[in-house]
Amino acid sequence: MTNTTGKLYIVATPIGNLSDITPRATATLSDVDFLIVEDTRVTSKLLNYLGIKKPMLSLHAHNESSATQGMVQRLLQGKSAALVSDAGTPLISDPGFPLVREARANSVEVLTIPGPCAAIAALSIAGIPCDRFVFEGFLPAKESARKKSLEQLFDEPRTMIYYESPHRIVQTLVSMQEVLGSERKVAVARELTKQFEQTKSGTLAELLEWINLSKDHRRGEFVIIVSGNNADTNTYTNKHEVNADQILAVLLEEVSVKKAALIASRLTAMSKNELYTRALELKSIKNP
Ligand code: SAM
Repeated sequence: MTNTTGKLYIVATPIGNLSDITPRATATLSDVDFLIVEDTRVTSKLLNYLGIKKPMLSLHAHNESSATQGMVQRLLQGKSAALVSDAGTPLISDPGFPLVREARANSVEVLTIPGPCAAIAALSIAGIPCDRFVFEGFLPAKESARKKSLEQLFDEPRTMIYYESPHRIVQTLVSMQEVLGSERKVAVARELTKQFEQTKSGTLAELLEWINLSKDHRRGEFVIIVSGNNADTNTYTNKHEVNADQILAVLLEEVSVKKAALIASRLTAMSKNELYTRALELKSIKNP
């Protein structure tokens, strides 16, 4: 039996520099029967650059569930389609998940045409461990929800990746500093692949100072890469300081400095030597 069902291609497009379009992406956009796009105006610019003309259907946050069925029907009728978003890899903080799920549920073949993704591009140049990471997308706009979300990941040992807009970059870095501490290491990558591309790394305190230095630092699109909470970032300015100090204070009432450090180390998984030094400091504060 011949398979007359069309194919659905998920095509990554540039995140700023049009020359980053791949030859396979170009060939796919010109070969398929129709395109499924986030914003027809944005994709028209890319198509003009490539010299391609193609019918477009739009798929965005507000019509995702209603439009998906009709698109899958077309695929089932044998038409092939390419899904693109305004920039980067579709579905990654972009529309398309219901379409892919529905297409697969109907045995439509879904294929990837890989290419740029801002999260991965930023991670690969940040100088922050990238062997294990979590992608968090955009933090909530409301301060209380944003902080709650950050608090839930306070102890996350893996590197975290966030997207942010120019309107909220400062508030987000402030919330990160308040919740994760001034010493947490981060990298901020803005305008990747574009004329004013810049990637700055340092502690949250340093990055906030940098972002407040110039209006230009707050322009464009941002990826924030945040170090996980591990031995490297576990300084005495974060939540563990409070826990370790509280534990040491109680222990120092009952046992020697050495023993207090040993027990606190077992309870917190922090280094015995670090806790010994801290216990001596606490003791000298109490008995100057
Ligand atoms: N699907 C896209 C991808 O694969 O990266 C992401 C789409 S999401 C709606 C847009 C966000 O991605 C921006 O707000 C920004 O956080 C990030 N972004 C996109 N292009 C970027 C660039 N050139 N430089 C830095 N961040 C970028």
